[in-house]
Amino acid sequence: MCGIFGYIGKGEASKITAMGLFMLQHRGQESCGIAVSNGKKIKLIKELGYVKEVFYEERVDELDGFAAIGHVRYPTRGKPTIENSQPHLIETLSGPAYAFASNGDVVNYKMLREKYEGKGVFFHSDNDGELIGRMLVYKVERENKSTEDAVEEIMEEVKGAFSALFMTKDRIYAFRDPFGFRPMIFGKTEDGLAIASESVAMDILRIKNWREVEPAELLILTKNGARDVKFNGEKLRKRKETAHCSFEIIYFARPDSYQYHQFVHDKRVLLGEKLAEKDNVEADAVVPVPDSSNFMALGYSRKRRIPLCFGLIRSHYIGRTFITPSQSVRDESVRQKFNPLYRFFHEKRIILVDDSIVRGTTIRKIVRMIKGAGAKEVHVRIASPPVKFPCRYGIDTPTFEELIANRMTVEEIRKFIEADSLLYLTVDELKEVLDSPQDFCYACFNGEYPILEKE
Ligand code: SF4
Repeated sequence: MCGIFGYIGKGEASKITAMGLFMLQHRGQESCGIAVSNGKKIKLIKELGYVKEVFYEERVDELDGFAAIGHVRYPTRGKPTIENSQPHLIETLSGPAYAFASNGDVVNYKMLREKYEGKGVFFHSDNDGELIGRMLVYKVERENKSTEDAVEEIMEEVKGAFSALFMTKDRIYAFRDPFGFRPMIFGKTEDGLAIASESVAMDILRIKNWREVEPAELLILTKNGARDVKFNGEKLRKRKETAHCSFEIIYFARPDSYQYHQFVHDKRVLLGEKLAEKDNVEADAVVPVPDSSNFMALGYSRKRRIPLCFGLIRSHYIGRTFITPSQSVRDESVRQKFNPLYRFFHEKRIILVDDSIVRGTTIRKIVRMIKGAGAKEVHVRIASPPVKFPCRYGIDTPTFEELIANRMTVEEIRKFIEADSLLYLTVDELKEVLDSPQDFCYACFNGEYPILEKE
């Protein structure tokens, strides 16, 4: 998963982009970068680390220009190195001429990379963003196609998820894959035009006038305004329905974002209510695993009239457990991340609400922590279906073997996590909560992958 932000117009494009990326930090904490154009040349700064650490004021001042694109990354394809971080700068004989940043993952990466290497294209990384960027430049520079035509061909050739920004010296092309896996928002200010992965980034810029970029839509942004091109999404994806990522609503997006034509916060409350509707276990308190489960626990608590208590205190100074890159870092993170309110748990029966179980190791540590704090019973309630299949479209869910629901029954998982009871939502119940459920992807829950091509 990653976050992208772009801006063109009056004002300091790189500062606005740094602010936008800061609001998207939850989408990737491994590296960040900004490429900026002043009309004559494109300059790039990218480093491993958080937006705040990399883009402090003096650093952003080095990036002078009226157009910028930025990226926060967490690794799915390619190791966590600076070469694989984005944006990618693409040079021509006259110097850096293009920059590219993308959120998603390409399913037919290997085949396309070999194909374009065969045409003489040289790659500097193992990242799918670089692949799409260099494909575009190849089509424009070597095949003399218009960028508009090149983007349409990308939508046909590249199978997978991509919400992407392609910057030339004087404009930004923003486009979204025909399935619309990852979100993308377009906003207008009095001074310029902005693109972001999530609407929260528009909020910080006080942009009220925004909308979603539709699947298979291309926006061409210049200092003078925006023009949009809508390709035939149905034809490109060979089906009527899109495939928005349901996991974004469950876990990944900020609760204050609006995406896929719905409010994330409202859906999370409803997911909690849905869980409550089918539950009758007796308990003294509902406790969320903060922060991603807070609103699910709120919905559950309201529906069953069991008090909500924030019994787990989360440290906000380490990354999100799910997206840290290695198991050893992840283990350490869990221990440092949560601390129970010891006096609260004594002799209580607890409903512990979480958004999902991936490997099962994190929730087991939390159950042990709460029982260690004196809880009499811990009943785990998961506001999504069991995650049984890896994601191929840009969320770093582990391999089949690592996914606990792929190798254990619900009862076996309950025993493994040492809970007194365990309850999940079903895929049908998840669908009942979402607006236009037919337009979502549920592949990590039911194995029905919208794009079947393998690498
Ligand atoms: S497989 Fe799961 S995580 Fe991946 S896009 Fe589909 S719903 Fe989202």
